[in-house]
Amino acid sequence: MKYDVNEKGYYGEFGGAWIPEMMYTNINELRHRYLEIIESPDFKKEFDQLMKDYVGRPSPLYFAGRLSEHYGTNIYLKREDLNHTGSHKLNNTVGQILLAGRLGKKRIIAETGAGQHGVATATVCALKGLKCIVYMGALDVQRQAPNVKKMKMLGAEVVPVHSGNKTLKDATNEAMRDWINNPEDTHYIIGSVVGPHPFPDMVARFQSVISLEMKKQLSEQTGSEFPSRILACVGGGSNAAGAFYHYLDHEQVELIGVEAAGKGVDTNETAATLLVGSPGVLHASRTMLMQNKDGQITEPYSISAGLDYPGIGPLHAHLFKSGRAKFLAATDEEVLKAAVLLTQKEGIIPALESAHALAALEKLEMKPDDVNVINLSGSGNKDMETYLNYFGY
Ligand SMILES: *Cc1c(COP(=O)(O)O)cnc(C)c1O
Repeated sequence: MKYDVNEKGYYGEFGGAWIPEMMYTNINELRHRYLEIIESPDFKKEFDQLMKDYVGRPSPLYFAGRLSEHYGTNIYLKREDLNHTGSHKLNNTVGQILLAGRLGKKRIIAETGAGQHGVATATVCALKGLKCIVYMGALDVQRQAPNVKKMKMLGAEVVPVHSGNKTLKDATNEAMRDWINNPEDTHYIIGSVVGPHPFPDMVARFQSVISLEMKKQLSEQTGSEFPSRILACVGGGSNAAGAFYHYLDHEQVELIGVEAAGKGVDTNETAATLLVGSPGVLHASRTMLMQNKDGQITEPYSISAGLDYPGIGPLHAHLFKSGRAKFLAATDEEVLKAAVLLTQKEGIIPALESAHALAALEKLEMKPDDVNVINLSGSGNKDMETYLNYFGY
């Protein structure tokens, strides 16, 4: 496939494994074994079974009638919000925990920002009875208290990270340090299509179940497996990668990623990496990132904690550079409006992250016969406090 990663882990000029020598053992083992493991019949059988009985897949593809009428076109929602733990994140952590088992690993580490990936990781560790350590910026530990409690109840150890800005980037650095020190018994479950090869490709493959189901469901509901366009929000890019995956080579399907503009792309408070960033190396991958003129990472901002990552997966950097996908950005204001619109038109409260994809509907020209699919990456349950603060319900 044209947009597949190459042997060395590159998507065009982006990706690779820019790792320190001390990480080589881990990455090398993973790189040589991941495809053989995840393509084995035994792995596929267990993965498919858990997707069905534990995650609750297939997630429905729902025709949003009143929202469609509002925009004068056809809008379908891929309901990842209905998965166990409330988002697409479990697709990846289930895949990686099965992989870790087959690699003989006994100890799992993860990084988390908003806590969603930490919860998804702690969940599968409970499922498999494995030790779980989650690194989390000390500031995020404070800001995301409910998820910290969930992780603890699930049996995970949450380690607050006090270096740097005390947020996601610092937690990721700390998790990488742990992995370097524990190469034998530990697997690092990265939460998005970021980090060194083979993580971006591996995570995209686990999330690709989204577009695999979409093809079948669209075919049943519209008579064609090809929609006019697919929209997804982009933090690191895993839900978008999953929603785009099986359509990458079908250039008639327009692919649209939506980044978090925060307070605006012309302010310092933004997380729109592709729009304001430049190429560089972050977390062992060459990609687009937000940096100052000395190459230091700048702190991202978004109302949605799941999107404020200063980088983006190398696949998306390549889709952006090659023009295969289009990338827009939505501001906090636009996102809050879009969240209420969906809630009051369809009775579905979206995650703030997912509402970025919804906000992009305002910016597009859509024809009455177009078929638009929005990947509704998660549920708004975790965001009620933000919604309440803003709207004062
Ligand atoms: C974590 C998260 C995201 C952002 O991560 P991606 O890797 O870009 O998908 C988006 N939506 C929800 C609901 C999330 O929890």
